[in-house]
Formats: sequence, structure tokens, C-alpha cells
Amino acid sequence: MAPAHLPDAHDAPSLLAKDPYELRVDQGRHVPDADVRAALKSGELGFVHSFTTGATVDGPGVRVVAWTAGCMWRCAYCHNPDTWTMANGIPVTVSKAIEGLRKYRAGLKAMAGGFTLSGGEPLLQDRFVARLFREVKAIGVHTALDTNGYYGDRLSDAELETVDLVLLDLKAWDPERHRQLTGMDVAPTHAFARRLAARGRPVWVRYVLVPGLTDDAAEIERIAAFAASLGVVQRVDVLPFHQMGQFKWKRLGIPYTLEQTPAPTQELVDRTLGVFRAAGLKAV
Ligand code: SF4
Repeated sequence: MAPAHLPDAHDAPSLLAKDPYELRVDQGRHVPDADVRAALKSGELGFVHSFTTGATVDGPGVRVVAWTAGCMWRCAYCHNPDTWTMANGIPVTVSKAIEGLRKYRAGLKAMAGGFTLSGGEPLLQDRFVARLFREVKAIGVHTALDTNGYYGDRLSDAELETVDLVLLDLKAWDPERHRQLTGMDVAPTHAFARRLAARGRPVWVRYVLVPGLTDDAAEIERIAAFAASLGVVQRVDVLPFHQMGQFKWKRLGIPYTLEQTPAPTQELVDRTLGVFRAAGLKAV
């Protein structure tokens, strides 16, 4: 049970997003700091920005996708900066999340899909992730975790077994370039990737293609070689940059540096796909 003084916000139908780019702020501002700390420690509840149904791009089949609130990275191209702050999430207990997911279980199975936890960065709430995935597996639903991998070491080997698929975001190869792009060190992500490989856990790599920022051919070749060397990467999703999230940066008052950046041309997308394919990977 959630602490008695927490409002029953997880019952709110508003968790269901109207579209994947809905701006949401301050949904959890009423939650006392002590309760946030307790939730992070126990994992009994997590802070969730929103969820959608019928998703077909965040793992195999048709999926329910929940976006957690909270991320310590600051990617220049992030299209959901309102997920950076945990206070923008609604507190949701594991039991309520499972109760909600049960309604979709038969449909998800029929459509060879499952449940994906994305963000934000889910592993900022690693205890919630661990508890939730254990329960999702227990009701027989396929699980996918979309993560930048930075806090991958927070999941034990046993907990990793409850993750059927990791959607691992690889953003840049060169450490300095990675730091400029995300504000964070790349080494923990690579360490997590190697650990997933060592444990034979299936991975889909995600690569956001931004003209002038992540389109350097040599850099993509290094990432492709690394991904191929892991031996567990089933597929690479090349995600063309878009401006759908630009309005959020403006509304939140965060300086946005990619205002003039176009979407990649089809030629650039094809060239990038070709680099991954040349490394022996399935890229789409
Ligand atoms: S890791 Fe994801 S949620 Fe976090 S800043 Fe980067 S793109 Fe946004």
C-alpha cells in the first residue's frame, strides 16, 4: 500500500496520454520529499509521466508503454524534457500498475506485444523497475526496458532476467562528444552493454540521427562495430531527429540549441542504416 497521506493520484485516468508528446508538469508536486525518498528506496511506487497503448515502435508487437519521470541526462535532442523532473510524474503503486496492465494482457499476447518501460530514465527508479518487472513477468507479459544504461549496474543479475528485451540508447561513441551531447559519461553505458552481452540478454540498439550532431560516419562506424561485437543485438533502430518536442523546451524555458536543425534526409538515413548493416546488424 502507498503511504496513507499520498493522494490516490495513480487512479487518475489522466495517466493515459492523448499523444506521445503531451507536455506534463508538476503532477507529483504534492508528494513530500520524504515520501519520494521512501518510494525510491522500496520501489513500492514509482513516478510515472504517462502511458500509451497500441505502440508499435518500442519493442516487438503492439505494446503498452509507460514513461517514468526523472532523468539525469540532458540530451540536446531530447523530445520529452518534461520527463527530466521526477516531480512531473504521478505516483503509481506497483499493484495499481499491474491492475491496469491486466486489462490489456490478453490483447498484448494476441498481438505478440508486451509492456515497455521508457522515460525519462527508468533506472533512476531502479527499485520500482525491479518490482514492477517481476510482477509483469508473473502475469505472463513480455517486458522491455528502454534505457540509456547509465545505471544498469543497479539491477542485479536475477533482476536482469525479468527484462526480456533491453532497448539500449547509444548516443555517441567519443567520450567528449558524448559528454557534449548528453552531459554524461559514456563508459557506464558501454559497461552495461558488455554485461548484457556476457549474460546473453537480448538488446535492440536505438540511435538518434541528428544532422550535424550525430551524423559523423566514422562515429557511427565505431558504434556499429561495438554493437556488432556484443553478439546480442537483434536489431538497430535508427531514429530520425524531429522537432515534435521543441515546444516543450520553449514552454519549460530551457534553452534549445537545435532550433535550426532539420530532420535527416532519406539519403542520410539510408547511409546510416547502411553502416549498421555493413557491420552485420539488422537495422530499420
Ligand atoms: S536520456 Fe532520454 S529522457 Fe534523458 S535527456 Fe536523453 S533523450 Fe531525454
